[in-house]
Amino acid sequence: MVVGVLVELSNKNIDKIFDYNVPNNLESSIKIGVRVEVPFGRQTLDGFVMEIKADSNMELKDIICVKDKDIVINDELLELGKKMANEYLATLISCYQVMLPKALKANINGKNYLKYDTFYKLNDLDISNIKFRDKQKEIIDLIKEKKLVSREELLKISSSSLNTLLKKEIIVPVMKEHYRLSYSDIKTKKNELTNDQKKIVSEVNNSNDSIYLLYGVTGSGKTEVYMELIEEQLSLGKTSIVLVPEISLTPQMVSRFQQRFGDRIAALHSALSDGEKYDEWRRIARGEASIVIGARSAIFAPLDNIGIIIVDEEHSDSYKQGDANPRYHAVDIAIERSKYHKCKVILGSATPRLESMARAEVGVYHLLKLLNRVNGKKLPLVTIVDLNKEMKKSIGHFSNTLIEAINKRLEKNEQVILLLNRRGYSNFITCKNCGNTIKCPNCDITLTYHKTSNTLRCHYCGYGEKNLTKCPSCGEESINDLGCGTEKIEEELNKIVKARILRMDYDTTSRKGAHEKMITAFKNHEYDILLGTQIVAKGLDFSLVTLVGVINADTGLNIPDFRSSENTFSLLSQVAGRAGRSERSGEVIIQTFNPDHYAIKYTEEHDYLSFYKYEMNVRKQLKYPPYYYLVFIRISGKDMNYVSNEANKIKRSLERNLANISILGPTTCTIFKINNIFRFGIIIKYKKCTNLKTILNKILDHYKSDSKIKVDIDFNPSQML
Ligand code: ADP
Ligand code: ZN
Repeated sequence: MVVGVLVELSNKNIDKIFDYNVPNNLESSIKIGVRVEVPFGRQTLDGFVMEIKADSNMELKDIICVKDKDIVINDELLELGKKMANEYLATLISCYQVMLPKALKANINGKNYLKYDTFYKLNDLDISNIKFRDKQKEIIDLIKEKKLVSREELLKISSSSLNTLLKKEIIVPVMKEHYRLSYSDIKTKKNELTNDQKKIVSEVNNSNDSIYLLYGVTGSGKTEVYMELIEEQLSLGKTSIVLVPEISLTPQMVSRFQQRFGDRIAALHSALSDGEKYDEWRRIARGEASIVIGARSAIFAPLDNIGIIIVDEEHSDSYKQGDANPRYHAVDIAIERSKYHKCKVILGSATPRLESMARAEVGVYHLLKLLNRVNGKKLPLVTIVDLNKEMKKSIGHFSNTLIEAINKRLEKNEQVILLLNRRGYSNFITCKNCGNTIKCPNCDITLTYHKTSNTLRCHYCGYGEKNLTKCPSCGEESINDLGCGTEKIEEELNKIVKARILRMDYDTTSRKGAHEKMITAFKNHEYDILLGTQIVAKGLDFSLVTLVGVINADTGLNIPDFRSSENTFSLLSQVAGRAGRSERSGEVIIQTFNPDHYAIKYTEEHDYLSFYKYEMNVRKQLKYPPYYYLVFIRISGKDMNYVSNEANKIKRSLERNLANISILGPTTCTIFKINNIFRFGIIIKYKKCTNLKTILNKILDHYKSDSKIKVDIDFNPSQML
């Protein structure tokens, strides 16, 4: 037997399938989609079996071993990988690697994550004439009754008797795979759907359309609708995938699904250890879980017989993998998989992407609307604070209006969420004497101050500088005002109000389980104020929260990105949606220097549809999506002149070979230098361009063996940095 094996050649942007001979004793373990170890030159590599062929006369090397009992990449995903490689101009191996948890990737140095529990069963012996001691008899009786008993349970009876029985081979061990996680199967009563919710559910169930956009305001009960649709599929014996943004994949969300579906669910997210992810993945592949809830890469969950795929908060840019190949969008993968399974896809959001709404408007997606909150609650009242006027009356970053509102809520024993929208580069640390901004020596990025370690850190390369007080440029001791991040705001807040403040950001939640603990503590009212970055904007549902404050709405608007208005509108609307979700009515206060900006005005009015119309017009005039498609090409390397020259060559080649496109650049990227690598960008805008992929592929081919330059291509980029 001969097999075609796909291997990863590290650091080379190529993949190839190589033929190997399968020794007779391994033939029975070979299946398409398992991993094998193969000799490659002087090294040993892991690879996936892609094809099984008849024997050949060629002199071939033998594979070393087969690594998996079960198939790792099934037929559907095998084909999906090929389509992705083609679609995103990525290597085939990168497309398979991105689908798999670390423990199942092709990686020769990977450790074995399989865990076993030891159980015992009776051996096939006639023991009727043997006399046992009491404890031994107890063990034998228990095994007789339960057939298989765990080691722990028997140790409780007597370890010496257990050992004796083992030695005499009266009982024998059986190894069973151990799953690190377990879900209780206790389900709570479900909510009776409202009439609005019922209408949506039956509209989906009675339609033959395949892709739906559920536009529903925050708190309109979308999640409840998802669960009903899933239950319907479950009763038909079908499986479901629910994607949620990593940031809102809180224990709260998972436990909501668990309470409804018990141990039918499997959760995949970054808070799991590699071993836990491996276990969840195997449970899914073996059909032991029917509902997968997870972040972006959960879209590749190896489920059979999928009945519905739900993408919650479909506007979230966490669904796009933008920083490595393949640069895919999970919604596109969802749609691709839905074709294979002939199932439905539901995209849900209170602020759908412009692209999605535009498709819904022309009928490519079936539009569903939930325009009211579940219990008839009004959306919270939004007040805009004009910082141009109020700055004089403010303490630090807090206007009078916001301080008063916070105090009012605290008096009533209610809770407050404060958002510090740190997105963008607002964290400048500047010298008070010469105005110099302190940048990383390796990257074109300002350093961020970390109080706990008293260091300035680069968030890109990890560079750190301790105890900096003197400006590196003018030498004055004038760098005392360090940071304006969450830490600083927390300090200010502590001086202004008497309250228990919980700070939640990347730094405080990076430890495993920290996020979960914080959310529980806030829910239990151990704190009055939750202060944090975007992390507080998504998916949280606390009934005591009646005030949401946004410290500065402008940071996101100042980012040089054509989506900055959309992202700002969406973030503000999401965080506003955290207020007044129960009986108590809610209030939102947004501080801004741009009170007349349309993204802020429409947030004030909770008017997504008008925002959508306005923004569509802007996009049309500036020739941006959804009217035009974009491709972002990044050209990077250590030698700035060389990279710049090659970038210009690429541009000329695009101009020569492509018609009906417009090209922007090459320009220096927003972040011009990372880790001493210089970065240039070219943007292509087009409506229709038939030979685009061919030409881009030629460019990639051309630079494949040039180690001085790296070319990255991103279709429909979500960020162009
Ligand atoms: P969304 O996902 O649109 O933000 P949710 O599904 O989270 O909305 O619902 C908002 C709140 O209303 C949640 O606390 C949820 O438990 C509750 N809820 C939703 N639907 C119902 C219902 N039919 N009956 C009672 N409570 C509901
Ligand atoms: Zn750096």
